[in-house]
Amino acid sequence: MHHESWRFCPSCGGRLVPRRLKAGEPERPVCDRCGRVIYLDPKVAVGTVITNGEGEIALVRRSIEPGYGKWVFPGGYVDRGEEPQVAAVREAREEAGLEIRLDGLIDIYAYPGATPIVIVYAASAIGGLLEAADESLEAAWYGPHAIPWDELAFPSTRDGLRDHRRGRPYTGPRQGWAP
Ligand SMILES: [Zn+2]
Repeated sequence: MHHESWRFCPSCGGRLVPRRLKAGEPERPVCDRCGRVIYLDPKVAVGTVITNGEGEIALVRRSIEPGYGKWVFPGGYVDRGEEPQVAAVREAREEAGLEIRLDGLIDIYAYPGATPIVIVYAASAIGGLLEAADESLEAAWYGPHAIPWDELAFPSTRDGLRDHRRGRPYTGPRQGWAP
């Protein structure tokens, strides 16, 4: 259970206690005063494997936990009400200084017991200059054979780069796919 950070009801300030409301479902925090149930949903994140004209991939080295000092492709959480494609373009600009064109979906990654669901796109750099910006110590273009596999931040980083390299299910730029 991950409700350690939820101690009090956001409606009435009552105490939250873990309860199993239905067989087969996880325990959920329930307010012992007003009965409100707190549903702990996944968090949706996006990432982009961005290539330049030389076929190199943009990676940034994280300056925050989790994954401090490790490499990751640009990405972050989708805001409520924001389209994932728009979030992907925004994060590439904020984290790496790059303007990108989305070329297609690589895959969607989730792991048992983990909160995020990560949507990873293939993208092309169409402007800007790769630089360390928000949440990054440094940024660099890596050739496809120089990816620092042992220094990647997250399982979704490893799996997204691996699947991008394999070229599936993504099969190349699609005209007019951008949001
Ligand atoms: Zn309450």
